[in-house]
Amino acid sequence: MRCPKCPGELETKTYGRKILVRRCSECFGLFCKPDVLSEMKREWHSEIVLDAGNPKVGDKLNEMGDIDCPECGIPMDKTYDANQRHIWFESCSQCEGTWFDAGEFSDLKYDTFMDRIRDYLRGARPPS
Ligand SMILES: [Zn+2]
Ligand SMILES: [Zn+2]
Repeated sequence: MRCPKCPGELETKTYGRKILVRRCSECFGLFCKPDVLSEMKREWHSEIVLDAGNPKVGDKLNEMGDIDCPECGIPMDKTYDANQRHIWFESCSQCEGTWFDAGEFSDLKYDTFMDRIRDYLRGARPPS
């Protein structure tokens, strides 16, 4: 499976018994399904093991929103987290997969005071 954002290749990564994600070998972006995502939010240290990329790289790739789902090949929807509006990610309407750039899942998992400031600075994603 090809990475939707860079020339890298998506590799299967597992954590525990229930978590299986696809991760890019180059940019460390993560592709996961909703049930796995909720498991990842619950699982201790999942962000350290799975979201191991450089947040600076993720930040740059975050600007790239027009991508196709690595699984279905159709354009993904540009969306953002309802609670932490500065976290912009892409989701697929067909397979419900979501794409997180490096660092985004770690950010999503922990809602801190700094996140309130980032919400204020970046704001919600403009509609396309
Ligand atoms: Zn990549
Ligand atoms: Zn899809």
